[in-house]
Amino acid sequence: MTAPTATVSPGNDSPPLIEIHGISKVYRMGTNEVYALRQVDLLVRRGEFIAIMGTSGSGKSTMMNILGCLDTPTSGSYRLDGVKVDGLSRNALADLRNAKLGFVFQGFNLLSRTSAIDNVELPLLYDRTHTPRDTKALARAALERVGLGGRMDHHPSELSGGQQQRVAIARALVTSPTLILADEPTGNLDSRTTLDVMSLFQELNDQGITILLVTHEPEVSQYAKRIVEMRDGRIRRDHPVENHRRAAEDLRAHDSGEVAA
Ligand code: ADP
Ligand code: MG
Repeated sequence: MTAPTATVSPGNDSPPLIEIHGISKVYRMGTNEVYALRQVDLLVRRGEFIAIMGTSGSGKSTMMNILGCLDTPTSGSYRLDGVKVDGLSRNALADLRNAKLGFVFQGFNLLSRTSAIDNVELPLLYDRTHTPRDTKALARAALERVGLGGRMDHHPSELSGGQQQRVAIARALVTSPTLILADEPTGNLDSRTTLDVMSLFQELNDQGITILLVTHEPEVSQYAKRIVEMRDGRIRRDHPVENHRRAAEDLRAHDSGEVAA
């Protein structure tokens, strides 16, 4: 078995978090077959920060949905944090998601009539392990972690786009995930807010959370440590980021009127 991506991982000694081999996904629409993924192999180690790039239709979301245990591949194998994902029941997949994964989406997906803290609490209510936890305290801590300690009772409409995405990131964090999957999380944000959100992702990655982030913006990918480029359902390129940038520094430069070089 080959692991072609291992050489570009920053910590080759850190344990594998994601191992997929020969993953394919075929959508059948009548007599038509769409190959969304074709024999994809990927190895992701703990602590990585990966940007997945590629044009529209290249298979990025399909890959994220499979990695997120939201969808199952047509063929291939998947191991997540040592757990064999293939063939798990819906309930087992849901438990695995709850235990290990956090999700962030482009459109924030917050409940509009619900306060920030209640939005952040939601994943804990779906927790089927039924371990007693102080859900309010956990939600409060997650909001503090993303710098929104003073906005807990605000509704999404009372928050800026960047703040709404921070609430969504807090909601992803509240279950203490090992891995965060973010599909175009800055797709709806202006350039300053994009820097703000990317600085938060970098901070979380510094704290040990592994991050996989889909983006079509090359500037955004420069804040990751590794770039995986997809085309026509295949990984075409997989390389470390040479000039790894710090979004917090670029944000400071932006605010002081300097042009980020
Ligand atoms: P990306 O996120 O890179 O834009 P997707 O993973 O969404 O790409 O889609 C990859 C390919 O699979 C595209 O050709 C898309 O039209 C097709 N596809 C995605 N989801 C479905 C679906 N539910 N049914 C049929 N085809 C789909
Ligand atoms: Mg997509």
